[in-house]
Amino acid sequence: MKIEFFGAAGEVTGSCHILQAGGHKVLLDCGLIQGSRQDEARNRDPFPFEASDIDAVVLSHAHLDHCGRLPLLVRRGFRGRIFAQRASCELVAILLADAARLEERDAHYLSRKLGRNIKPLFTFEDGRGVVESLVPQPYATAFDVVPGVRATFRDAGHIMGSCVVEVHCQVGEQQRTVVFSGDLGQYDSPILRDPESAPRADAVLMESTYGDRRHRERSDTIEELGSIIRGAEGGNILIPAFAIGRSQEVLYQLGKHFEDWGLDRFRIFLDSPMAIETTEVYLRFAQLYDEEASRLRARNEKMPLLPNLTMSRKTEESMAINRIRSGAIVIAGSGMCNGGRIVHHLKHNLPFESTQVVILGYQARGSLGRRLVDGHERVRIHGQEVPVRGRVHTLGGLSAHGDQDDLARWYEGIGGRPPVWLVHGEEEARDAFAGYLAGRSGAQVNTPRPGDVLDLTAS
Ligand SMILES: [Zn+2]
Repeated sequence: MKIEFFGAAGEVTGSCHILQAGGHKVLLDCGLIQGSRQDEARNRDPFPFEASDIDAVVLSHAHLDHCGRLPLLVRRGFRGRIFAQRASCELVAILLADAARLEERDAHYLSRKLGRNIKPLFTFEDGRGVVESLVPQPYATAFDVVPGVRATFRDAGHIMGSCVVEVHCQVGEQQRTVVFSGDLGQYDSPILRDPESAPRADAVLMESTYGDRRHRERSDTIEELGSIIRGAEGGNILIPAFAIGRSQEVLYQLGKHFEDWGLDRFRIFLDSPMAIETTEVYLRFAQLYDEEASRLRARNEKMPLLPNLTMSRKTEESMAINRIRSGAIVIAGSGMCNGGRIVHHLKHNLPFESTQVVILGYQARGSLGRRLVDGHERVRIHGQEVPVRGRVHTLGGLSAHGDQDDLARWYEGIGGRPPVWLVHGEEEARDAFAGYLAGRSGAQVNTPRPGDVLDLTAS
């Protein structure tokens, strides 16, 4: 039994590890590399294996950096099954359809601009191929992946349906267990349950995205959001948010604090078809909620608990929001304001002093969101100079990833202090976490590079 590190070894995106056991090859995730144009060009490189040689895929969760190269894998000849948690399967379908649409649009635009035919990385059809290969699985029930290899999903508390994957292999007389963390959420985050540790493991592959950081207390962020809303006098409040996870959390907080934040004086809009579809998945999988969310749901029967919420699917509905001058709270994508409907709302609202923009997530360099965070007095939107007269609030603390302390806590929940291989982190964060975990938990910590192999046959 061997695991070869291929993607997200020494970087955050492109999660992909190759498990070999009993003559079979199984991929743990097959994610997209995201970042600069140069980095993203690597997505088109050949895989270090024949796609048709892969027997199955086990998917940790529905984020593109974990599942975004599955359409390519299918297009290049993979014909096996893709195992994912039930809610994850539904989110993957939503996510890949949206990503394919953007890929096709960008390829079309570039082809016209460059005067040659640029092919999209993958198409809607390729995405369909993935969805048809998905095999939904529940949490906490072992299933057969290939002969001699079984897996069990546990809740990773990162987004709905996210998994810690336990892989059990028969090696001679012995059973060996490798635990793959996927992406781990924060403890005590809303809606989702806490990340669950595996009972035992012979080796642990774990993420280290925020291995060098401590997050701001979530409650401080929520309190600040509340005071912005309570203190709003006239004007609109714009909240850029990612479609999967963040949008649902914002709705949840608005529902939970409906009375104390005086939300009945607003009209609330969820203005993103993808976020709307995702919210419907979150509502359908209520059996996966944590205690507080279950209680709220039982009390109100239906979440989000917002009588004044409008879900704007159609473009015309979105455009109509722009005629509202005051009293609207608009949640729209993209989360970094570099595309999507939020850009139109910013263009219409930034020139007014009464406007408030609430930035909840990380804004990458070069994005419109980053320019707002950096306090630019004018920004360029759709080729037009737009004055920024409204207020921009930057709130941290709502990360879907656990911080240093969360990560170590999750590891310490696994019996026997098994050796660790750190993946899914920039080198700096990963190295800092390696030192932290070794010191705090006495773990033996490895920091693999692409091509390195973890061999569990011998020991
Ligand atoms: Zn993720």
